[in-house]
Amino acid sequence: MAWDFETDPEFQEKLDWMDAFVREHVEPLDLAFPGSGEPYDRKNPTYKKITDPLKEEVRKQGLWACHLGPDLGGPGYGQVKLGLMNEILGRSLWAPNVFGCQAPDSGNAEILAHYGTEEQKKRYLQPLLDGEIVSCFSMTEPQAGADPREFKCRGRKEGNEWVISGEKYFSSHADFADFIIAMVITDPDVPVHQGASMVLIPAETPGIEIVRNVGVGGEPFGQGHHPHLRYDDVRVPEENLLGGPGQAFAIAQTRLGGGRIHHAMRTVASVKHALQMMCERALSRHTQGEQLAKKQMVQERIADSFVELEQFRLLVMYAAWHIDKGNKREARTYIAAVKVQMAKVLHDVVQRALHIHGALGCSNEMPLMRMWSSVPVMGIADGPTEVHKVTIAKAVLKQYEPYEGLWPRDFLPTRVEEARARFAEYIEHEVANQ
Ligand SMILES: Cc1cc2nc3c(=O)[nH]c(=O)nc-3n(C[C@H](O)[C@H](O)[C@H](O)COP(=O)(O)OP(=O)(O)OC[C@H]3O[C@@H](n4cnc5c(N)ncnc54)[C@H](O)[C@@H]3O)c2cc1C
Repeated sequence: MAWDFETDPEFQEKLDWMDAFVREHVEPLDLAFPGSGEPYDRKNPTYKKITDPLKEEVRKQGLWACHLGPDLGGPGYGQVKLGLMNEILGRSLWAPNVFGCQAPDSGNAEILAHYGTEEQKKRYLQPLLDGEIVSCFSMTEPQAGADPREFKCRGRKEGNEWVISGEKYFSSHADFADFIIAMVITDPDVPVHQGASMVLIPAETPGIEIVRNVGVGGEPFGQGHHPHLRYDDVRVPEENLLGGPGQAFAIAQTRLGGGRIHHAMRTVASVKHALQMMCERALSRHTQGEQLAKKQMVQERIADSFVELEQFRLLVMYAAWHIDKGNKREARTYIAAVKVQMAKVLHDVVQRALHIHGALGCSNEMPLMRMWSSVPVMGIADGPTEVHKVTIAKAVLKQYEPYEGLWPRDFLPTRVEEARARFAEYIEHEVANQ
């Protein structure tokens, strides 16, 4: 019997160590250096000086790059264990960087590991895995994100080079990255699923222009780390086309699936944090001569938040389990499900926590408004909710068939008639005895 919701005591010790380490040594970084880009700035000597010993500590514990298997220098814990770890790391923007599992580098490392040449692995993958550099994934364009059929950024072959021209939007951390993996159209004459390719572009290649740095939420205009990029005849050697022409979608699927569930795992941490603040406030604040926690409407918010958090967490772990089991089809559906649910649960729980804090919740003196501004991001980044709902619906519908004729399979007059015919002998007997 394999239904089991327990954590191995040995692994629990690691989680306990992580919990204390993140609280004591990593969360203060979020307070001292709160910018959204700072954890990714590998060239800043101060951050390096502070984080290098922390990373060393993480390595000593065997917890570095836990999304990776032993072949790539990680412990190969699998997604379920990673889920438990991300429930801790998700409390801090710095923590994934200190533990070597931050997006989008985690996904880009997987791409290079699968599709890079030996030379590319040496030059980019190893320093990425070592946390010495960061990378960028450049897919969304100013005129199109969710629908790749609208993509225009082209890659054309000239001799033994690929020449890239076009624009990309929200290419996160391109301003810090040593290399970019860009999705470009290499064959516009076939459907985009066959005509798009992934290209590895070293950041120093001539022709890459940061048109503007784009920020999220309340970041000052012109600042932020999701640049609008222009590629103006950017030339890379032919071997920089990863996995062969037309393979972009197969490659993106590998990378985005992992990325989405890792975001969801970290969102469990944010939702837990919001619930903790909500409960502490309800127990500490008094109104009309009693604790807020005594008010039934407040209790309802706490109960709803608890139930939604637990449902979401179990869904995330179930999706993680499908990945670990190699159930590809199920994993795809469940990853889409957690992607949809993550935006909703974060929205509902953070809103309630913020509301219970009154003016303090709306202020910049609690983390709640910052969490609140991450809510819309969860519904958009890595594809909008609607697109994932379509994925789920298609997978669910595949399990069913249309019924024949006018009436549904569960049409009661037909079913009752059939059931009565089956038990006619007994029904007649009952009627006769009345
Ligand atoms: C913080 C952040 C970081 C990001 N980082 C990166 C990155 O590193 N690299 C990268 O390439 N991209 C990145 N993105 C971009 C992200 O992947 C896109 O925003 C996303 O794919 C949606 O594309 P779009 O913004 O063009 O919206 P659109 O595709 O224009 O969609 C806008 C809205 O239209 C509706 N819609 C779209 N399609 C459908 C549909 N099929 N059915 C019904 N309604 C629909 C939805 O309401 C959707 O929200 C990032 C985004 C954010 C917010």
